[in-house]
Amino acid sequence: MAHGWEGAVLKLMRGKDYAFTVTGAEQVTDRYRRVHLTDGGLLRAVPPHPTMWVRLWFARDGKPHQRAYTLVDPDPATGTFSLEFALHDGVASDWARTAVPGDTIEATVQGTGFHHPEPAPERLLVVGDPASLPGVNSLLDAFPDTPATIWFETPHVTDRVLPLRLDADRHDLRLVERIDNGGHLLKQVRAELPAVLGDPEKAYAWAATDAATTRALATYLRREAGLPRRRVHALGYWRADA
Ligand SMILES: Cc1cc2nc3c(=O)[nH]c(=O)nc-3n(C[C@H](O)[C@H](O)[C@H](O)COP(=O)(O)OP(=O)(O)OC[C@H]3O[C@@H](n4cnc5c(N)ncnc54)[C@H](O)[C@@H]3O)c2cc1C
Repeated sequence: MAHGWEGAVLKLMRGKDYAFTVTGAEQVTDRYRRVHLTDGGLLRAVPPHPTMWVRLWFARDGKPHQRAYTLVDPDPATGTFSLEFALHDGVASDWARTAVPGDTIEATVQGTGFHHPEPAPERLLVVGDPASLPGVNSLLDAFPDTPATIWFETPHVTDRVLPLRLDADRHDLRLVERIDNGGHLLKQVRAELPAVLGDPEKAYAWAATDAATTRALATYLRREAGLPRRRVHALGYWRADA
């Protein structure tokens, strides 16, 4: 597929192209689907890191559309990984709903990365939602001994049973209904975070929900909660309609 100007720009910025092939799919809930794939050589060329994501190219009406998705359990030895899709309207969700073995999807790797916070965090403060669940799980896997408080926004009732990789001894999960376009989540984090924060220099916050809420969370974490900029990773994962 020709990727149009976005692809040309990524190529100039050294993006790399791969073709992934679907080997199977599972419906996890009515609104969440896991698709298994082979990697087209990706994981040998680019060793995986926590929260690693790729830019996938979907075609609609003869035009390319680029969407970011996170690798789930990337395994360089077998050249396989999965992708998990929070389902809603959209070209990526539509592709995932009907993906069957043998389907292929093109990808560009550009922009992903992970800097292990130094010194190692005493506590993780994680804010996510179904779109960032793969990122949240990969982050928790990357810190197998670190306590974490996780605020997980649930737009739909079945999101409450999504497979968070929790360890009851270390992880404290707060499920938060999506109300007021993320305003309720922000309120709850502001109300509850100070009690679990500890030394802001030794905490590490990772937030990825809709863009506007994530921006507000980042501002709160840095300006009010007092976490240094380098101890906050905040990236909007999707845009809510106005
Ligand atoms: C680094 C990164 C990693 C990501 N990893 C994942 C991942 O592993 N799994 C995943 O599901 N998503 C992930 N996302 C989010 C995903 O890229 C966006 O949700 C994307 O917009 C989906 O594309 P679409 O074509 O399905 O919908 P779009 O065409 O972008 O949007 C169609 C409609 O759906 C709404 N919409 C879009 N996303 C959501 C959402 N998450 N919840 C509710 N409504 C939505 C829009 O407001 C719009 O009305 C990631 C984003 C980033 C930046």
